[in-house]
Amino acid sequence: MGWTYDPTNIFARILRGEIPNRTVMETPHTLVFHDIRPLAPVHVLVIPKGAYVSLDHFAAEGSEEEIVDFHRTIAKTCAILGLSGEDGFRAISNTGDHGHQEVPHYHLHILGGRPIGRMIE
Ligand code: 5GP
Repeated sequence: MGWTYDPTNIFARILRGEIPNRTVMETPHTLVFHDIRPLAPVHVLVIPKGAYVSLDHFAAEGSEEEIVDFHRTIAKTCAILGLSGEDGFRAISNTGDHGHQEVPHYHLHILGGRPIGRMIE
């Protein structure tokens, strides 16, 4: 597949320290920060530090170390933010034009702190 990464995207600029962010946690491969326009009491974005456009790009070409680190970081983030109990949360990855992806650097939205409602019936 031909994924082309645009290094001027806003999350690349956050990773380069050109734009501030409210960091929840960081590892050598992954950064978690608060969304600037939160849609729920908890709304954070989990991003790999590598240059991946989308979920499918990361899943196809991310190293095992990056992919494991990304998912372990999700678990730690949920524990830090109090989302690990039975109330739970929603994780969303908007992908491409049909998925209404705005920022072309892979990110997983984690939303919680209130019932999020059904999106798929
Ligand atoms: P997408 O539609 O690509 O899945 O969502 C991109 C998300 O990035 C949106 O929820 C938007 O609020 C968030 N966002 C856009 N620019 C910034 C920014 O400069 N800082 C932070 N923290 N979030 C941003």
